[in-house]
Amino acid sequence: MREDRVFIKDFPLKALEAWVASIGERPFRARQIFRHVYGRLIRSWNECSDLPKAFRTQLEYGTILNPLERVGTEEGSDGTRKFVFRLHDGHLIESVLIPDPPRLTACLSSQVGCALACRFCLTGTMGFKRHLRTAEIVDQLIQMQHAVGLHQRITNIVFMGMGEPLANEEALLNSLQILLAPEGLGFSHRRVTVSTVGLVPPMERLGRESPVNLAVSLHAADDDTRSRLMPINRTYPLAALMEACRAYPMPSRKRITFEYLLLKGVNDRPEDARRLVKLLSFVRCKVNLIPFNPHPSLPFERPSEESVAAFQHILQQAHLAATIRQSRGADIRAACGQLAARMVSS
Ligand code: SAH
Repeated sequence: MREDRVFIKDFPLKALEAWVASIGERPFRARQIFRHVYGRLIRSWNECSDLPKAFRTQLEYGTILNPLERVGTEEGSDGTRKFVFRLHDGHLIESVLIPDPPRLTACLSSQVGCALACRFCLTGTMGFKRHLRTAEIVDQLIQMQHAVGLHQRITNIVFMGMGEPLANEEALLNSLQILLAPEGLGFSHRRVTVSTVGLVPPMERLGRESPVNLAVSLHAADDDTRSRLMPINRTYPLAALMEACRAYPMPSRKRITFEYLLLKGVNDRPEDARRLVKLLSFVRCKVNLIPFNPHPSLPFERPSEESVAAFQHILQQAHLAATIRQSRGADIRAACGQLAARMVSS
């Protein structure tokens, strides 16, 4: 594999224009390429008969069009599908497709592994290998779209797979540009959600640069509990995180989603719910309660359905919108916090 080839899906339109110019081609070729790659979802440059033969050859030898190789697919009893992709350097990542008619949601990964080591998350136990590049993020969506067929469109995107998207902010922002570009994949910002543990500085940047939805993995309403569950809370404690949330620029009608994982006996008591209500006053938000998905290597338990319902009830009594996430794909280890593709050692 020659190493000087460019990954064509790394480029938002402007950057593609610059690259096209740098190899001496006319600028309008960038839009043409963009339409082929994202409008038609081509898999080979041979499919672009309106590009001159010499240019096609140049693209064929000078670029990488398909950065991911699909090496596995599993389908769960609820229709959720998990995909395993191999990257050019041999690492494996996982992505998930969740049918919820009329929606079809793609859950994308942003890193190989994760550095944040949240105690309840299987991806966190893998450690961090590397960031995904823009092309590797965008191609997860394109590969999954091909897998379901072009007649059935993926409607929603969540960055809730492996990794912390805001720790990989350049690639994340570039991929958002490509996903949202009308000349690109054309997703509405209302249908794209980035989930974060709450890295404050890149959160502020995301708010300035992209209109997509924000979800914050909160999981505790006091610093002691949160720091025990999520070491990142020592760097960005709740006061700083909540201040950033209150200041987050949001068009009217948008709200921040707070994800709150429910762990039996740890953060699921009525007083935890009341503390959460207090913490979230003055933020335009909704709460998504996620009953813990257990794994033998993780030292937590899932709370009973009654205590989940009681927790939700306290939030709703306080006029806080609160839904319970039915995590999908648990039987194929595709549910929240269960993505942990085995990696090549390096
Ligand atoms: N790093 C980002 C993106 C991953 S999103 C973030 O943390 O927000 C994955 C979601 O699943 C997060 O809210 C995460 O806290 C949650 N999660 C992790 N492990 C889980 C588990 N075992 N059961 C249920 N949810 C879990």
